[in-house]
Amino acid sequence: MEYVNEIRDPKTAERFLNKLKEITTRPWNIMETCGDQTLTILKNNIQNRLPEKIRIIHGPGCPAGVTPLEMIDKAILIAGLNDVIFTSFGDMLRVPGSKKDLLSVKSKGCDIRAVQSPLDAVKIAEENPGKRVVFFGVGFETNAPENAMSIKAAKLKKLPNYFILCSHLLLPPAIKFLLSDKESRIEGILAPGDMCSVMGYGQYIPIADDFRVPIVVTGFELNDILHGIYMTVKQLEEGKYEVENQYTRAVNCLGNLGAKEVMEDVFDVTDRKWRGIGVIPDSGYKITERYKAFDAEQEFKVESQEEEESDLCIAGIIMQGKITPPECPAFAKQCTPEHPLGAPMVSSKGACAAYFHYKRKDR
Ligand code: SF4
Repeated sequence: MEYVNEIRDPKTAERFLNKLKEITTRPWNIMETCGDQTLTILKNNIQNRLPEKIRIIHGPGCPAGVTPLEMIDKAILIAGLNDVIFTSFGDMLRVPGSKKDLLSVKSKGCDIRAVQSPLDAVKIAEENPGKRVVFFGVGFETNAPENAMSIKAAKLKKLPNYFILCSHLLLPPAIKFLLSDKESRIEGILAPGDMCSVMGYGQYIPIADDFRVPIVVTGFELNDILHGIYMTVKQLEEGKYEVENQYTRAVNCLGNLGAKEVMEDVFDVTDRKWRGIGVIPDSGYKITERYKAFDAEQEFKVESQEEEESDLCIAGIIMQGKITPPECPAFAKQCTPEHPLGAPMVSSKGACAAYFHYKRKDR
């Protein structure tokens, strides 16, 4: 795309939609993989404006949605301790644990604070030397550099009272996991521009090769997404399975080398559980031995039980792209953003919440 102001232009969007109509000859299932993509698609009703043969599947790209239940329960246990100030991004406060959420614990008087950045939490630790300050380090590759930096900053300031409860997830192993499922109907993938701006798109090349699926890195504006879908369908129609980069204004093949160096210093790759999906090998970060003094799991040694989701919630199936939110029997009935039964109904970037807010239906 030549000009940045084209990314929201309705005429450019119509052009992409017309070009898609011209080239689409058969049904294709394309998975988006990021909460911001979900939001743009639902906000602009893209899934219903595409040619009928193209179906958009929503993947596990919302951090609030895939942080495991047990980790929410651990956060609640730590936040309940008298000498703790627990800090987190605001949307994590309403994510249901097995019995309650962080917000309900806060309402009982526990010191739980919503912050914009882990560096805010480091500042709180500096200002409160008599308290142990914990930041809930969730999210994907996009959030990991800042969380790693906060640990390095705390080390530099010699803060003995700053900790991260680390629950970082890495998307490419989850994409491989979903593509390996014999029931997978994913034929093309829109890879997330924000995560790729950190890690680079090179990590997707072996996935495209191994599973013979086209993968297109996209941005998050209306025409970024439509352009990405067009590039994906064009490859599918031509029988190609390459990695292409629609989001050239922010993403290159290698990513942000400085950020990657900081992450490699602070984190090790580990197996991680994904809410509703299960354990995926090598799909997350843990704090490395060198920085274990900042690891909340080492400091607090809290254990949470393996718990079941609400019987009504089928978020795991939704996040694997097997059905869409309106197909959940509890959608907009027992489960709403005011009374979420599952994590994807909490954050505005969760697929269930996005369908609810924009009153979208499937075709
Ligand atoms: S609509 Fe609610 S109950 Fe259904 S899958 Fe989504 S979060 Fe779970």
